[in-house]
Parts: sequence; structure tokens; C-alpha cells
Amino acid sequence: MTDTILELDGVVKEFAGFRAVGGPQGLSFSLRRGGFLGLIGPNGAGKSTTFNLISGVMPPTAGRVTFDGTDISRLSTAETAALGLGRTFQTPRAFASLSVLDNVMAGLAHPAEGPLAALLGRWKPAEAELTGRAEAALERVGLIARRHDSVANLSGGELRMLEVARQLVRAPRLLLLDEPTAGVDPTLQGKLSEILAGLHAAGTTLVVVEHNLGFLMSLADSVVVLQNGALLAEGAPADIRRDPAVIAAYLGA
Ligand code: ADP
Ligand code: MG
Repeated sequence: MTDTILELDGVVKEFAGFRAVGGPQGLSFSLRRGGFLGLIGPNGAGKSTTFNLISGVMPPTAGRVTFDGTDISRLSTAETAALGLGRTFQTPRAFASLSVLDNVMAGLAHPAEGPLAALLGRWKPAEAELTGRAEAALERVGLIARRHDSVANLSGGELRMLEVARQLVRAPRLLLLDEPTAGVDPTLQGKLSEILAGLHAAGTTLVVVEHNLGFLMSLADSVVVLQNGALLAEGAPADIRRDPAVIAAYLGA
């Protein structure tokens, strides 16, 4: 087991000839196991697309993504999830017709039996245990009182916390969060900060895309700055904050 959990090597993504990720060289960076990486950059820099390439929403046009020694460049989202990768989306996704609790449970299946077990009537013994895990996750994100509500009644910030709960319950080894504080009120942001610090302390590797730099810089132990799909800077939060190229391109004078 090496110290590197995630490696991007010359990754490029083009949409109809437009290079959204990669720049002239292809995008390369690596992430230490247990690290907390902040991924920042102006709108359109390629942050969400980079998450899509890592998690298997779409394959790169060129280059390689390696997760824990396995080339995951061509794997589907289901396959990367099965390997222990989790992510949330910039625009939260939920099953609108399901309750808050059922949304958290939807991603879970009895690990030994798989989803078919439910159809075969062998689901029951596992159900109580899975419900307990889902409720614990909802407790952690502050949504336990809403567990029987329809997700249609959740605010934008609460939907984001629901996405976090859906990942907590799966306990991924590598978790990618795309703008988790957007639309989240200060109280829930505080809770989110505690949750992420707790995951980090427990050894989960994190990559967080954020525009709220105060939030991110207090949590991350390294930062990658993207501009026009290319790596503009990489380093410790304190060094990134005073990097002249980053200030000129992104942080503003
Ligand atoms: P960020 O998350 O940093 O704001 P994105 O990764 O969403 O940036 O987008 C990077 C660039 O790629 C943008 O110019 C965006 O319009 C383009 N882009 C992203 N996804 C697609 C797509 N599916 N089809 C075409 N262009 C896309
Ligand atoms: Mg984005």
C-alpha cells in the first residue's frame, strides 16, 4: 500500500474540441492517503469536470486516473463507488418521491447479499441495521428530525447536507465534495466543518471544491489551483494565499 491514494497523470478532457481540463500539458497531481485537498479556481476552471473524470461520470480524452493503484480512467460511477470512492454534486441530487431517510438508504444494499436480496425476501434482517446507520448519518448532518419528510420540503442547504449523509453512510475511503457550503446557512456550515474535520481525523481522504476560502483553508492541508483547466499552483494553504500568480488570477488584488 503506497502513500498515494489518487493520481492524475496527464489528464485531458475535451468537449467538441474545447479543452475544459488539461491545458497544454495535461493535468497531473497526486494526493496523499488521508490528505485533505482543497481544489479551487475561477468559475469554468474545470473543477467539476475533474470530479467527473475521477468518479467515472465521463472518461478523460487522454491521460490516466489511478485510485489506490488501480487505473480507474475507464470505470463507471458504480465501479468507482464500489472501490470506495464517494462524491457529491455541485447541484444536489435526490430522489424527489422518496423520504429523507429513504434517500440515504437508497445507496445502500446489504453488502453480503446485494440489491437482489430485497426482491428475494432476504432483506428484512439487514433492514434494521441499515436504517440505524442511515439515521446515525442524518443525526450527524442535523436532519434527523426531517427523516420522514419528503425531500421536496428541504431547503437547498438541507439538500446539500442530505448528500453528505448519503456519503457518510457509505463511508468512502476517498470523498469528493463539490461546493458543499453553497446555499448552506452558517449554522449548518459549522456542522459541515466539524463533520469534515472528523472524517479527516478518522483517516478519510478528502477533496473539496469551494469558493468559500475561509471555510476551506481552515480544513485543507494542501491546495490545488486550476485556471483554464490547467494547474496554476499547488501547495500549503498559507503559501497559496500569498502566491502572486494565484492572487492575480483568482483571489483578486
Ligand atoms: P468549474 O467547476 O471549475 O466551474 P466546470 O468543470 O464545470 O468548471 O467547467 C469547465 C469548462 O468545461 C466550462 O467552460 C464548461 O462550460 C465546460 N463544460 C463542462 N461540462 C461540459 C459538458 N458536459 N459539455 C460541454 N462543456 C462542458
Ligand atoms: Mg463546478
